[in-house]
Amino acid sequence: MLWPFLIIKTLLFMAAAVEGDFLIYDNPNYRRVRGSRLILVSCGYCQTKIALYQKAGPGGLLRMYVERIVKSSVDLSTLPGALSCPNCKKQLATKVTLKRRNKEAYALIRSVFNTAEVHR
Ligand SMILES: [Zn+2]
Repeated sequence: MLWPFLIIKTLLFMAAAVEGDFLIYDNPNYRRVRGSRLILVSCGYCQTKIALYQKAGPGGLLRMYVERIVKSSVDLSTLPGALSCPNCKKQLATKVTLKRRNKEAYALIRSVFNTAEVHR
């Protein structure tokens, strides 16, 4: 039986999207992108909200460009080498520099995070 689990998961995401107050760090490098979607990224282990991210283009989330992170629950002003959950301390992403575009991004580790679309 999969559906009760899915309903609970959906409810958790809805609650997370409404609260939003856990994301205490505003990203100083944030730049608005037209036609993007807002995605709430949370820890796959403990559901702690990690970041509000501005996603451009279709498809799933593989990495987060630093300049598109709106808010986060981790202080990114020093650009730490890894992104870890502030609650359970598990590592969720590693910092990478995309040479082609010379941009800093956090490459998310597969299956250790959840995403939910946030409606503005
Ligand atoms: Zn966690």
